Amino acid sequence: MIFRKLFVNSCYSHVHRCRATKLIAALSTTPSPGEQHVKCLGIPHPILNSTSVSTKCGRTGKGNKENMATDNLTAVLHGIEDLRLEQRPIPEIANDEVLLAMDSVGICGSDVHYLTAGRIGDFVVTKPMVIGHEAAGVVAKVGKCVKNLAVGDRVAIEPGVPCRHCDHCKQGKYNLCADMVFCATPPYDGNLTRFYKHAADFCYKLPDHVSMEEGALLEPLSVGVHACRRAEVGLGSKVLILGAGPIGLVTLLAAQAMGASEILITDLVQQRLDVAKELGATHTLLLDRDQSAEETVKRVHCIMSEAPDKAVDCCGAESSARLAIFATRSGGVVVIVGMGAPEIKLPLINALAREVDIRGVFRYCNDYPAALALVASGKVNVKRLVTHHFDITETAKAFETSRYGHGGAIKVMIHVQPRDANNSVKF
Ligand code: NAD
Ligand code: ZN
Repeated sequence: MIFRKLFVNSCYSHVHRCRATKLIAALSTTPSPGEQHVKCLGIPHPILNSTSVSTKCGRTGKGNKENMATDNLTAVLHGIEDLRLEQRPIPEIANDEVLLAMDSVGICGSDVHYLTAGRIGDFVVTKPMVIGHEAAGVVAKVGKCVKNLAVGDRVAIEPGVPCRHCDHCKQGKYNLCADMVFCATPPYDGNLTRFYKHAADFCYKLPDHVSMEEGALLEPLSVGVHACRRAEVGLGSKVLILGAGPIGLVTLLAAQAMGASEILITDLVQQRLDVAKELGATHTLLLDRDQSAEETVKRVHCIMSEAPDKAVDCCGAESSARLAIFATRSGGVVVIVGMGAPEIKLPLINALAREVDIRGVFRYCNDYPAALALVASGKVNVKRLVTHHFDITETAKAFETSRYGHGGAIKVMIHVQPRDANNSVKF
């Protein structure tokens, strides 16, 4: 009888991790030919609920049926206002993939939009789709060709996997790949589920001191990093950010880390601006819907003492994109992150005559490593963004909280495993 020593046991000392480790053990001990196993799952499944199928403590001898975890509770969007929790088979991995025991999944505005509208632009939910894409998990199984990860590694998941073959991919702009497989963007499934498989090279190992929640937050943070890179934010930049939702706030954090000396952030909601101030915004401006663009531009210039050289729209309103252009200094850059109506009216001649560049942002591209480095080094603290925590069994309530902004919700985090089960320090 051979006891397989899992790598995970040697690198996980924290007491809480034992539960996840044992769960993973059930999945990771794929027998080599002729090998016999003992699988000790001496504790109950850490994430069991009434609808799930339990793993059992037991021994699997040669020739016996594999004693695998079978509970794969999953949040599946069936259509507008129809989000269900149901069991799905645990996926089989390919050689270059890892199976992940999911830990934390943040709710994004797009997830809520798919729930309420069933579509975002041309992406339409036409068949049941697993929701969720801001996520982190623990490696439970590795494919034969995977070299960068081992069982037990805690990872942030970059949710979009491109084709790797097209011109965009080859030129390093893989976010523009037309064949991108992106979590929870129809027709592809997301990862609000107990077990999920992903391309190993789009998983980033988290250092021990980085929490799983922070790992999940690397997704929106990468959008902020990408936006600031597109805007060429650098030392001494004066940045105007429009919208203080999660994306505006991560853009604020990224701009600070990239050397901006002054940041003014706007919103229509004072509570969001209060959070921005807490996070270090130099100035905040509560917008008045009745004020003309001209008057607002004057206020912006007055507060910043001059025109900002970068403006990042993070709300998607037409008035906001227009303000971004009018307010930016000649020769500056306007970056549009916010996705609003597909067509809006912009003062193009104003931009043209003052050589204000208007640039789009689509997700991120090679930005995860920088986002992780910022968090791991302590240069950026994303923890304040998380205002609410729910268990996966409370997914409906979590979506409601995010959707209506209950209790000042900014980022709502769903826990697929018990909170802090895989954190060395409590989140
Ligand atoms: P959110 O709705 O939570 O936040 C938007 C914020 O903007 C809110 O606080 C709202 O009060 C504020 N706002 C609304 N109108 C405003 C105005 N005229 N001026 C200033 N503030 C205003 O959304 P979020 O999750 O922070 O995302 C922001 C936008 O970014 C959304 O449009 C989203 O679709 C988009 N987004 C784009 C990408 C991309 O790749 N381009 C990625 C993620 C999100
Ligand atoms: Zn491609």
